[in-house]
Amino acid sequence: MRLTVQWQDHSREPHAGQFYMLRAWAADATPILSRPISVDDFDNQTGALTFLYQVKGEGTHKLAALKKDDTLTVTGPCGNGFDTAALAGQYKRIAVVGGGIGTAPLLLLCKELCRAGVRPDLFVGFRDTTYGMDRFVPWCRDIYAATVSGKEGLHGLVTDLPGGSLVIFGADCLPILLYDPVRRVAAACHAGWRGTALGIAQRAVEKMGFYGSRPEDIRAAIGPGIAKCCFETHEDVPNAMTKALGVCATPYIEPIEGGKFKVDLKGLNAMRLKRAGLLEEHIDISPDCTACHPEKYWSHRATQGRRGSQAAVIQLL
Ligand SMILES: Cc1cc2nc3c(=O)[nH]c(=O)nc-3n(C[C@H](O)[C@H](O)[C@H](O)COP(=O)(O)OP(=O)(O)OC[C@H]3O[C@@H](n4cnc5c(N)ncnc54)[C@H](O)[C@@H]3O)c2cc1C
Ligand SMILES: [Zn+2]
Repeated sequence: MRLTVQWQDHSREPHAGQFYMLRAWAADATPILSRPISVDDFDNQTGALTFLYQVKGEGTHKLAALKKDDTLTVTGPCGNGFDTAALAGQYKRIAVVGGGIGTAPLLLLCKELCRAGVRPDLFVGFRDTTYGMDRFVPWCRDIYAATVSGKEGLHGLVTDLPGGSLVIFGADCLPILLYDPVRRVAAACHAGWRGTALGIAQRAVEKMGFYGSRPEDIRAAIGPGIAKCCFETHEDVPNAMTKALGVCATPYIEPIEGGKFKVDLKGLNAMRLKRAGLLEEHIDISPDCTACHPEKYWSHRATQGRRGSQAAVIQLL
């Protein structure tokens, strides 16, 4: 939910990282405390002060139910906020990192850093869909937005830092782990059918290239996932594959009865990796089908969604 109020007090203007205490109920009528919400944006020309919040419990429900002429008590600004002038004086590159509703306080931060002379890079993560990214565009050098589900934005992890673990979760979707023993770079990505059509594995190899990896050095492991035996689809899946790969996709698609298809995601991803320059002998494919082995693996299909997940982990030591 977005809430904009008019902030008239020029002697106490809000800065990035500060928050306000909001109360949309009479203190004596509802005995709950004011709720802290961060400053999302502040326009010092017009005094428009914007909050972005998620409805959680009673307090935020009451905020969301505000109607015209209702009273809202806004106390603040609270907290110290960021000293953006000092940060911009000290650093040439600044990375601003956040996720979910936690991106709300980052907008004013990016604006203030920009005004202080450093255009930051923004790294944000969301569950399913990114939101409000367009507002950041004028204030950021680069925006890296990722989602857990991969429906939008980036979806995959690359590192050359020893000790950090990259983890991918899935149940039918393929975990793909990549390792370059020469430059010591690791990557992990999660390839469902959408990710396969979008070429996530190939993209991961490209990203490893930014760390100096050469495709011919990279080892790939395609983990257990739903195999052709069980991955029955309507025409949307094969259509996405042939749209992305043309006739090269056809060996991996088998028409079956009732206008349906069986699709070999493992084969498609191995083909993508070979196209990206990996050697065939460096691509290891688990033969296990998650839907065939309920005793061993979680399968989204086999459990109709009532499931846990497998985790695939890679770590540089
Ligand atoms: C400094 C600071 C800045 C913040 N900035 C922001 C911001 O910019 N945007 C933002 O969205 N939030 C922000 N928050 C968090 C925000 O303050 C809380 O989400 C809010 O206070 C919750 O109040 P509430 O009365 O709605 O929920 P409460 O009733 O206090 O509930 C708190 C917890 O209980 C859970 N809960 C409540 N009711 C139920 C129910 N019926 N069933 C299951 N679970 C329930 C909620 O999910 C939540 O986890 C900030 C917090 C702090 C401390
Ligand atoms: Zn199977």
